[in-house]
Amino acid sequence: MQFMGHMRGGLAAGAAAVALGGVSGAISLDDSALRQMLYSPFASPDFYTLGGMFLTAVFMALFPDIDTPSIPQRWFLRAMAAVLVGLAWQGRMDLFAVVTLATLAPMLDHHRGWTHSLATPWVLSAVLAVVWEYFRAKEAWLSGFSWANVGRMLQDDWMYVVAAVMGHYTHLLLDLPALRFVPFLRNEPDHH
Ligand SMILES: [Zn+2]
Repeated sequence: MQFMGHMRGGLAAGAAAVALGGVSGAISLDDSALRQMLYSPFASPDFYTLGGMFLTAVFMALFPDIDTPSIPQRWFLRAMAAVLVGLAWQGRMDLFAVVTLATLAPMLDHHRGWTHSLATPWVLSAVLAVVWEYFRAKEAWLSGFSWANVGRMLQDDWMYVVAAVMGHYTHLLLDLPALRFVPFLRNEPDHH
């Protein structure tokens, strides 16, 4: 499956992740919360949660094929560079560290190596949670690294892990040879 197919899959997974965020109660859907999201989205924490889930799913749907040089890879890296500049601008160096590592990760192995494993989104989530906790511990002078915090983080932020898994599994699904014959997904044949 080629890039545009995976992009469509990622957008669908992102929409599904957002729907799940609403249904599961990860974000509140009461009147005042919805009104805040609609009228002053940037002041609404739920807006960032939903946006984060959507982007996580899209990122993970594209992630496995970022390991080879290509024009989509260049655009992917440009988009990620823009995200990193934005995070630095906001002073979110903790997220900067996590996003940098996630962006480099697919390029650490040969083509279709570890990025196409069913375990990938779970392992990646765990590794990034450890990095994030390590960064937080270094920033906060009074507290050290704590595995309990890593566990709590993964538990509290489960919706991002689920969004990552949804996006990533969409990619694996679309890579299945059988799906080449589904007309609206059909792309020019390539090595996938
Ligand atoms: Zn692939």
